[in-house]
Amino acid sequence: MRLETFTPLVYNTILFGGFKISLLNKLRYYNFTQEEATDCYGELVEHNLRGLLIVSVANAVLMLVFSFYPKPYDNNRIFYYVMSMIEITLFFALFYTFKKKEPYNTAAVFNTGYIIFILSSVIFCVFVYAIDRSPFAVRFLLVFLNFQIIFVIDIIMVIIGNIIVIIVFFLVNKYSVLLTGVHIPDNGIFDIYNIALSSIICITLNWYSSRVILKGIITSNSLKKERNRFLNDSIHDQLTGLNNRRSFEQSVDFYTSVCRHVHQTVCVVMMDVDFFKNYNDFYGHQKGDVVLQALGKALKELGEEDRVYVARVGGEEFIVLWIENRMIEAERVVLKLRQKIIDLKIPHEKSCAAPYVTASFGLYFMRGGSQDSAEELYNFADLALYKAKESGRNCIMLLDSATHSYSPVQLRPHDDLVR
Ligand code: GH3
Ligand code: MG
Ligand code: MG
Repeated sequence: MRLETFTPLVYNTILFGGFKISLLNKLRYYNFTQEEATDCYGELVEHNLRGLLIVSVANAVLMLVFSFYPKPYDNNRIFYYVMSMIEITLFFALFYTFKKKEPYNTAAVFNTGYIIFILSSVIFCVFVYAIDRSPFAVRFLLVFLNFQIIFVIDIIMVIIGNIIVIIVFFLVNKYSVLLTGVHIPDNGIFDIYNIALSSIICITLNWYSSRVILKGIITSNSLKKERNRFLNDSIHDQLTGLNNRRSFEQSVDFYTSVCRHVHQTVCVVMMDVDFFKNYNDFYGHQKGDVVLQALGKALKELGEEDRVYVARVGGEEFIVLWIENRMIEAERVVLKLRQKIIDLKIPHEKSCAAPYVTASFGLYFMRGGSQDSAEELYNFADLALYKAKESGRNCIMLLDSATHSYSPVQLRPHDDLVR
């Protein structure tokens, strides 16, 4: 028996073993939900890549060793030698793309590696076959076929692919002279057993170990998710889903330091619903909650449209924070918010400001370089709000940090005048 007959076994075992995590498209055969599968997709691709790197190194070493093996394996030296070169190239190509694309698009790296592998393999096959019409070119193509199957297709396809490989091997052996012009030595049938055996062992191993690894990934993912949900809850308001006061306290320092050190103007809007106590008394607390949710939605929209920070900081008090050096632009944002609330047209019979739910706004224009603390920022916005309440509600009062004087923000032609 020739040592060479074992190479497919060894080769395939390493190949399959190393690729046990190449389950990208195979997840559904492991009874994981689509959602779970999507969640760990990125991690799986990374595992795949790592597996691929390990396999390519292992193969390179193995093939290199074979290429220096003495007679009677002389015929195959070139095969093993070139093979090892390809594996080494593949390794470096993958390593390079892996490193280069940080933060990498894992799928792109994966595809790059795959394309490199396909190209180098095809070139190799043609090369070997052209040199001496060696049956190894055919043999290699079959191994390559196996490789591809593990790489991209799911477990059922791996099984089917292996059956095809066995059949093709059988045919190649039977009709070797016809196919390659060279008679494959008497170990042909043994090769088939080898491949069949290694396929069965490897598919089983692959299936089992993949499941264990996937379970690990999914468990750690769900733990991570749970932790994120907990963190998320702690900075969001339950009723409206907006940032809560705690979040505001964490964020406000960023804005004051931007103002102090980078000399950018910070705009702070304190908003308070008008006659909300009357609303609750007349319509009931539950209806009041619904109003707060509607207002929260309007604020969220503003946050997304104008890229401003919004939070619910009290019962019916909200805050908006952003960086804007142009006062006219700052005023535009507050006017837009006021209009958004009016546009909700929530009837409020007991409001003295309008027949609808309205709010009053204090805008504090905290100019770059101002040394105000977070507390002062809050207090000044609150003072401006108080002035807005005093001057009739459903309006905006501006307090400028440069002059420390109040001035009402004038409505623009398209703003609703409801009073
Ligand atoms: P003003 O125009 O001066 O702001 O009048 P107001 O009635 O809105 O002012 P006040 O601060 O006296 O009342 C705030 C009310 O907001 C009191 C409370 O009933 C109501 N409120 C606070 N938090 C909630 C909440 O979570 N849900 C509901 N439904 N109402 C709330
Ligand atoms: Mg209030
Ligand atoms: Mg109020």
